[in-house]
Amino acid sequence: MDDSPLTFLDEELPDAESVADTDAPPSLIIDDADRYSRLRLIPWWRQERLAAARVLVVGAGALGNEVLKNLALLGVGTVYVIDLDDVEPSNLSRSVLFRTEDGGRGKAEVGAQRATEINPDVRIIPLKGDVITDVGLGLFADVDVVIGCLDNREARLWVNRQCWKVGTPWVDSGIQEIQGVVKVFVPPDSACYECAMTERDYQLLNLRYSCPLLRRDQIMEGKVPTAPTIASMMGALEVQEALKIIHGLPVAAGSAMVFNGVTNQFYTTRLPFRPDCLSHETYPKPIELPLGALRPVADLFAAARQTGLAGPLTLALERELVVSIDCPRCGWHSEIHRPRTRVSQAESICPTCNEPAQPEIVSALAEDSPLATRALADVGIPHYDIVRVDGVDESAFFLLAGDRGWLEAGPQETPNHPMRA
Ligand SMILES: [Zn+2]
Ligand SMILES: [Zn+2]
Repeated sequence: MDDSPLTFLDEELPDAESVADTDAPPSLIIDDADRYSRLRLIPWWRQERLAAARVLVVGAGALGNEVLKNLALLGVGTVYVIDLDDVEPSNLSRSVLFRTEDGGRGKAEVGAQRATEINPDVRIIPLKGDVITDVGLGLFADVDVVIGCLDNREARLWVNRQCWKVGTPWVDSGIQEIQGVVKVFVPPDSACYECAMTERDYQLLNLRYSCPLLRRDQIMEGKVPTAPTIASMMGALEVQEALKIIHGLPVAAGSAMVFNGVTNQFYTTRLPFRPDCLSHETYPKPIELPLGALRPVADLFAAARQTGLAGPLTLALERELVVSIDCPRCGWHSEIHRPRTRVSQAESICPTCNEPAQPEIVSALAEDSPLATRALADVGIPHYDIVRVDGVDESAFFLLAGDRGWLEAGPQETPNHPMRA
């Protein structure tokens, strides 16, 4: 390795033994017909691990494009990508996978298509939807690592809590102008995203919760200006950390890697671990039920009883449900049945009195509720979710495994955001 450009780093480089597993040792034969031949020369590299890996990418904007591109180059076996938005002209200066003619198509769908062109070995499943309301916890449990390519605190906090519940590592990034940060979180022991949240972060989140219903565009944290160069740097760093997690190599869990592109300063800082952090709830392994989100809530209660859960049963709604909106003045009543984050402020204005009416918001559903006859999807439970049912003195966790086919079927639509043909 005398001609290595990184001889000064040799002591730091992991060797083949660093990857503790029973995988076959890397082949020493260089086969130029093998797409991955140069990667296999890295002593600790296990292409088979990458081919077997499953990764969830949350967001298909500037960062998400770079992450998808790199996951495709690496030959990661299965990638899920979720994004709510469509491609717009303003995305084209920062998104390597988008073209002018893609305008109006879903970002996740276009990103998946173009990344598959880079490497057809990789199966990329696009989901058009909101990570909070449209995709179940089962997906977070199934993947090896989640890569956050997000632009708002609310979604990051949600992803963080989901990952902690099921013990899945996640990598987060934030970029602005030509600065960026990448954070790696490994449950249950590392500091998490919420551990490092400041009072100011909570204030910005509480702005939303202090008002019963706020429009989605009001909770977005504005359009942050970013250069494509920082998106590709931070997106690459995110994927490189994911690569290490997939190989079982050590990562700087609970740390932030901060790059100041103005002064070219790069440093790593440990995030504080807060023992009382609200994100640290972990779920036991769920019981798999052959039910999907389109089945009635009552079927879930019946199945829960069969597993031995006793007493009056209650279904926890992790996504608070707006059941209806009522005007106390004139008696106007509007049925909603959508998660709180999905209800616009305009919907809560009484059309007669032209003033805000009162939403009825529930966070749990009893067995005798009239809503129990409705589908799980109608009370805000997404496909392939893991749900908690509380009995009189114990709780049980159930995976809606009946939705596994829905998830694996290919280009996806979610109940609230149908994909266009
Ligand atoms: Zn925490
Ligand atoms: Zn009214």
